[in-house]
Amino acid sequence: MTKYKGKKVLDILKPGVLFGDDVNTLYKIAKDNEFAIPAVNVVSSSSINSALQAACEANSPMIIQLSNGGAGFMSNGLSLEGQRAKVLGAVSAANHVHLLASEYNIPVILHTDHASKKILPWIDGLLEYSEEYFKLHNRPLFSSHMLDLSEESLEENLNTCQEYFKRMNKIGINIEIELGITGGEEDGVDNTNVDSSLLYTQPEEVYKAYGALSSVSDNFTIAASFGNVHGVYKPGNVQLTPKILDNSQKFIKEQLDLDEDKPVNFVFHGGSGSSANDLREAISYGVIKMNIDTDTQWAYWDGMKSYVNKYNDYLQSQIGNPDGEDAPNKKYYDPRKLVSSAEESMKYRLIQAFRELNCMNKN
Ligand SMILES: [Zn+2]
Repeated sequence: MTKYKGKKVLDILKPGVLFGDDVNTLYKIAKDNEFAIPAVNVVSSSSINSALQAACEANSPMIIQLSNGGAGFMSNGLSLEGQRAKVLGAVSAANHVHLLASEYNIPVILHTDHASKKILPWIDGLLEYSEEYFKLHNRPLFSSHMLDLSEESLEENLNTCQEYFKRMNKIGINIEIELGITGGEEDGVDNTNVDSSLLYTQPEEVYKAYGALSSVSDNFTIAASFGNVHGVYKPGNVQLTPKILDNSQKFIKEQLDLDEDKPVNFVFHGGSGSSANDLREAISYGVIKMNIDTDTQWAYWDGMKSYVNKYNDYLQSQIGNPDGEDAPNKKYYDPRKLVSSAEESMKYRLIQAFRELNCMNKN
């Protein structure tokens, strides 16, 4: 069944922040047309704008997401009890995206990244905001949230996610869960030394998760680990086995006697530095979202670096440069120049991701 093959996203969905069944419809369009959508981690209105510009130029939908730490940076300097500042940071970012996404004429999935057991209060706070938002606008603030209980037992992971999913589903919020562990280090979580068997999910585990979540609704995605690692390492250090995803799809189809060949929406974490072949293979097995953070962090920094290198002699003092000792440097040290260079560089890297994920011109 490939009902959406050859269809364009905007023939079916509206621009702006998607929620409820529309999120799942976008994933179905992606699956039927074998592309994945880049999910970029943002930390400021600047990186949000860069992401929106990239999606606009790629003429495709985009996933914009905040990690817990990224949300904290959105309200940087605000010191409040518990997760409060991070709740406010994420809400602030969400409002920025809501305001601009439809003006850019692109469909956007607004998402939060890894939330482990100890930061579930962050999700609780965001759900309270979305429930209030829902009363006013008949839609949630976020399209989806990820719960990452992969450090707990499978039973606890699935039970907790199912409970949260029931609450989220009432207001049209999708869920992403994690099975197995993404290796490497990101946002203060260090999994560089975990037992390597945990880096590979078993089809039976995906089947159990599929059962637990689909009893609530179809609007979920699963980040199953297949050797993927956060961060960028020397080539050859990461042993990806996307076949795990294929085996899981086949196992679930067979167990449940489903018509669909690829019932699961898979998410690819730790995609930075992956080969084009691994990406293509993972997409062919039902990966519809790929997270990108490390490579866009580098690109943002690289844009700053090249700006400073280019105008180095104009950035040493407020007055005085190679054009004359009285020449003012204001137009060079205006922070917008530096930040624009960073945004431009991040945008180009994101467009490269759209290309690698077969996600160009999908609107
Ligand atoms: Zn991740």
